[in-house]
Amino acid sequence: MKIAVVGAGAMGALFAARMAAGGLAVTLVDIDPVRIAQIAADGLRASVAGEALCSHVPCVAPDALDGGQDLIVLFTKFAALRPALAQACHALAPDGIVAVLANGLDAAGQLDGLVPAERLVIGVTDVAADLRNGIAHSDGSGVVKLGMADPASSARPCGRVAAWLERAGFAVTQQADIRTAVWEKVAFNAGFNALATLADACVRDLDNEPGRRIVGSVLDEVAAVAKIAGVPFDLGSVRARVDAAFALQGGHRPSMAQDRRAGRRTEIEAINGAVAACAQRLGMAAPINLTLTDLVLLTGG
Ligand code: NAD
Repeated sequence: MKIAVVGAGAMGALFAARMAAGGLAVTLVDIDPVRIAQIAADGLRASVAGEALCSHVPCVAPDALDGGQDLIVLFTKFAALRPALAQACHALAPDGIVAVLANGLDAAGQLDGLVPAERLVIGVTDVAADLRNGIAHSDGSGVVKLGMADPASSARPCGRVAAWLERAGFAVTQQADIRTAVWEKVAFNAGFNALATLADACVRDLDNEPGRRIVGSVLDEVAAVAKIAGVPFDLGSVRARVDAAFALQGGHRPSMAQDRRAGRRTEIEAINGAVAACAQRLGMAAPINLTLTDLVLLTGG
């Protein structure tokens, strides 16, 4: 059984390190020669709830990935999903599975034509990681939600991915309709990320009347678009998650704001921008998400 994790950044490194610790045969793939050389020299290093993990996981360029991979997990940023799979799919076994755990709406649409929907598993996770000095740090908490890209197809591939992730120590739930989890995660991210990027803010900096008003309006708008798109969406539970973030994660700097600070391109088009684009396709307006998208693009992308 062979697993490739494509994207050796914060999340890919964390997931690969935990898979290796769980006894799974895993290879990392990245296009960054500096990251490949770092993992070759130092091993793959992670810190999970204060416990140090170090393993000799190979990290290779896409064209050097061995064939016969039973699972390819995509952990690049959303915009890189399609090129990443296009470069790695030569190595997928004939009945191999692809799983995507990146944030953003419609990963399946991004990968159209590269893998059949009945072998594509979509995931959402609130497991968090950040990469510091080559080490993927995580507090170890969080859940992975998985579902089939095509809910009408057999859930067997989803069950296999769930079993492998559970062996790596992750808490996993399988969803009959993964679209709900994807839209609810996008709503949460849409609420905090664009605003935090524009204000160069941590969560606690948004915990005031204007901040809560904008976050609330974004959530309402995403819920309205999801409803017209026919996706079951629990606005109350997303609001509760936002309240919990205000109460418990005040010092957290949302990932898009971290990307902006580090000079990296943000995932705005896959989050607020994707909600606005979906609304437009459905013949409705999502002016708050569209304006936040434009403001983030105008101020650096
Ligand atoms: P990251 O920027 O740390 O890592 C992405 C990696 O992908 C980089 O090492 C990059 O070189 C590599 N890459 C880019 N193009 C590639 C290609 N064609 N082939 C192979 N590798 C390629 O990003 P991250 O923080 O690990 O996030 C990955 C995804 O997971 C994003 O969609 C993010 O929103 C989502 N996510 C992140 C967190 C978190 O806490 N970091 C939590 C949940 C979800």
